[in-house]
Amino acid sequence: NPRNSLSSDEVVTLTRQHNYGTWRYQKSWKPLHIVDAEGCTFTDASGKQYLDFSAQLMCSNLGHKNQAVIRAIGEQAQKLAYIMPSYATDARAELSRLLLDVLPDGLTKFFFATSGTEANEAAFKIARMYTGKTKIIARYRSYHGSTMASIAATGDPRRWAMEPGGKGQGFLFAPEVHCYKCPIKHTYPGCGIACADYLEHMIENESDVAAVLVEPVVGTNGVLVPPPEYLPRLREICNRHGVLLIADEVMSGWGRTGEWFAVNHWGVKPDILVTAKGITSAYVPLGLCATTQTIADYFEDHFFAHGHTYEAHPITLGPAIAAIGEMQRLGLVARAKEMGAYLGEKLHALKLKHPSIGEVRGLGLFWAVDLVRDQQKKTPFNTKQDKVDGKPTVVDQVAAECMKNGVSLQAWISHFVIAPPLIIEKSQIDAAVEVFDRALTIADQAL
Ligand code: PLP
Repeated sequence: NPRNSLSSDEVVTLTRQHNYGTWRYQKSWKPLHIVDAEGCTFTDASGKQYLDFSAQLMCSNLGHKNQAVIRAIGEQAQKLAYIMPSYATDARAELSRLLLDVLPDGLTKFFFATSGTEANEAAFKIARMYTGKTKIIARYRSYHGSTMASIAATGDPRRWAMEPGGKGQGFLFAPEVHCYKCPIKHTYPGCGIACADYLEHMIENESDVAAVLVEPVVGTNGVLVPPPEYLPRLREICNRHGVLLIADEVMSGWGRTGEWFAVNHWGVKPDILVTAKGITSAYVPLGLCATTQTIADYFEDHFFAHGHTYEAHPITLGPAIAAIGEMQRLGLVARAKEMGAYLGEKLHALKLKHPSIGEVRGLGLFWAVDLVRDQQKKTPFNTKQDKVDGKPTVVDQVAAECMKNGVSLQAWISHFVIAPPLIIEKSQIDAAVEVFDRALTIADQAL
């Protein structure tokens, strides 16, 4: 087997020379050669193990080597590996029935894509076709995907690279809900949820608004959990103005926050829900755009102008049934709540020790630790990912120190997203937090 004849150095060199390292300057990309993964850990070519404290990209919710999902991949490949999307298949029908049980009530019609990005693209087109309107109001500090429309809908700095060529058509940004650092300088409670009022003001002063697009709990941009009044209020504003509410639950869905979907915390029913990642725990690439029956009915006699070759790909659907089944069998939604409370307590305890921690916030097994240069002024270490040739950012240095000590966690701009597989044990949380605790000294010393 020629694959086995490559040395580890060759694997890294070939990968490095012929592949793009994403969202980064290429010069500093030194990919680690990973050869195995099991449960909450993965292993590099030297045999060193890492605890996966952010579930890769907040997606390996079941952990690695779940045998039921692996079996389902093989069985589906044997049974029906591919058939074009205009046909009905067992996997498609069974998954649809299962989704009706686990999705928030009222979402009854599905479009299966192969990523969160693609599922968002479907949501935008469906919203535009259904309403006959164009504009979509998203928020700053959001991420919705990497293709032309989904990056245009993204509020965070990853959008900037596209903008010299012309801003994405029809996307506007409302302030994020970030009570620790409110962008419109209010203080919760007592602000009357002014950020929702501002969003309503935008709807009233724009023509042609099709939808409001939110991550119910913002993910990569810092695990921003809204106050309980916010999403019900947005729902009411959208109803009043005849605007659709799209919930992007690509990261916050599938038990991550201690509910099947984050909107369940506040009893909010979106018109469209977009998800991916945890739907298969990342074993195979699947994205889902789910709509209400009202939207579905519209397309009975209006042209549904969307589709892909790999839409409803059987190899993605069979394993999704197994992955959701495993979540149910292992009771992982309740477990995320319980272990999340344990993890949250430990992270809050770190804040008391480290002057570089500005805020610890989260819900379920979904946490952010926000670093600041100055706790009073809440000044972040960085405001964008700027690490061309020079020193890595402070959060990158802390994350690198954690890696050195066998803990992998996602660092971004000036915070960490801590979101381990939902199967994580207390002893693993203890071990990982201990490593993180020691590594945070680097940030304390950089103050
Ligand atoms: N939406 C949210 C909230 C995400 O977190 C992501 C990815 O991290 C996406 C969309 C894009 O999903 P994908 O990377 O599967 O295209």
